[in-house]
Amino acid sequence: MSRKLLTAAALLLAGALAIAPAGAADAPERVYYGARVWTGDPLAPSATAFAVSGERIVAVGSDAELRALAGPDTVVTDLGGRRVVPGFNDAHWHLPARRTARLDDAGSVAVIQRRLVEYARQFPPGSWVMGRGWTPGDFPDNTADKRYLDAIFPDRPAVIRDRDGHQALVNSRALALAGITSDTPDPEDGVIVRGADGQPTGLLKEAAAGLVNELLPPMTADDTYALLLEEMQNAPRVGLTSLQDASEGGLTDNERGAVLRAIREGKLTVHYRAAVPFEKDATPGQLASYVKMNEDARGTLLSYGVAKGMLDGTVDAKTACMLEPYVGGGNGEPFMSQQDLNATAAKYDRAGIQVEIHAIGDCAVRMALDAYEYAAKVNGTSGRRHRVEHIEVPALADLPRFRELGVIASTQAIFATPDANTLANYEPLLGPGRASHADAFKLFDDAGAVQAFGSDYPVFPMDPILGIYVAVTRQTPQGTPAGGWYPQNRIGVEAALRHYTVDAAYASFDESQKGTITPGKFADFVVLSQDLLALPPERLLDAKVLLTVMSGRETYRAADFSP
Ligand SMILES: [Zn+2]
Repeated sequence: MSRKLLTAAALLLAGALAIAPAGAADAPERVYYGARVWTGDPLAPSATAFAVSGERIVAVGSDAELRALAGPDTVVTDLGGRRVVPGFNDAHWHLPARRTARLDDAGSVAVIQRRLVEYARQFPPGSWVMGRGWTPGDFPDNTADKRYLDAIFPDRPAVIRDRDGHQALVNSRALALAGITSDTPDPEDGVIVRGADGQPTGLLKEAAAGLVNELLPPMTADDTYALLLEEMQNAPRVGLTSLQDASEGGLTDNERGAVLRAIREGKLTVHYRAAVPFEKDATPGQLASYVKMNEDARGTLLSYGVAKGMLDGTVDAKTACMLEPYVGGGNGEPFMSQQDLNATAAKYDRAGIQVEIHAIGDCAVRMALDAYEYAAKVNGTSGRRHRVEHIEVPALADLPRFRELGVIASTQAIFATPDANTLANYEPLLGPGRASHADAFKLFDDAGAVQAFGSDYPVFPMDPILGIYVAVTRQTPQGTPAGGWYPQNRIGVEAALRHYTVDAAYASFDESQKGTITPGKFADFVVLSQDLLALPPERLLDAKVLLTVMSGRETYRAADFSP
């Protein structure tokens, strides 16, 4: 009997003694065997079988050990040699503001049109059609134009946002409803793109998109609930069992209501962690209410405990704050002074609230680290696990500080996708020196940081297998560029898995409950069609999710999976 199984048996026995005399009732509800389990637990890294009762894993071990635990009522499942991993945990995710068709990786106008038409069918005729996720390369000559939308929606208004959220393409009907003509002046901080004939092409950049966005119908509580339910199907389909919502305003009333309703109706398919606002002017009363919210939610699928702040913008928009200006000049300004950031971080730290700050440029990252160092010093605190979100271009000298200060590196594997957009922006804007360590997940691992992976959905797809593929190959799904983008920054599959499971759990103080397949933890796991740990890197995307279980409950099962 393995040490793990002993622990589990002791646990079962203790439970049995407490509630009932020993007997068949002690047998686990379910035993899964014949699997290749990557447990994520360094003390017992692999197993072939595990057992589940209620929402917990109760035993992990060999097929013989686990099958011996089965009683007459135990459901025993042969997983046929398939790979099992802990449920994926997306450490940086956002509940979208609206329901939209996903246009990620469309690659062509035809695919964009097909996805939009299909998506639009579920809404009443005449209502707005919304989509997001296109990139200029999806269109001929890199030029998005209203005619591609007019062809499929001649009478129905349509608006589709690009992947990075800096521009929108609308059709003629939407332009008409917004009253945008050749005579309409560009709004401040925005551009209405016009063709050679002076007519709007449908492309609205930055603030110009607001001219159409303000016409969109307000979201009702039912709309938000429908949106949440859609994401509650999307997440388990890609193996996610935990989501950490990094929206800086925290949940709106509608969103909180939707999450609570989903819990009541048994439709929340993930452990959901929501942020609260990180604000300079937060009062002691507000801070106390944030702490109480988290305490009150204990034991449910919804938790809080982290405050989200924003410190800079993005490299693409040249708004990420850099220690040295961008190539060709210009720089991003931090959204807060160091003094205010220090004082605010110290205030939240003192109240016992974890802080997560969006910082992409090396200057912003350093400011966040300095603020956390300051907070720990003035408050005499430790172990708050404050986080820096994104950290796309850190200064190399700052990398050891993550470990030294106990700060979590919350990075997004899919940000390293070397698509046309990345290649057009990173090296040209940052120069080869800084670009060579952009989104370099290996450097955080080498520096001994706890690195939690997330997606930044809906900016990028939430699929963790896609994230693992990108972190491991530093190539697009099409396999470009050959050899990978700064391939010295690749990491292994096992490291990537850890960042999506055990490290992401640590980042939300949940490592005793989640992140590994270990007796006593939530039964959060995924069965995969192919062995991620054995596939050659270029074939990692062949691995599909067959079964997702969250807290002992099946949240997704592939149509063709019947073990
Ligand atoms: Zn984000």
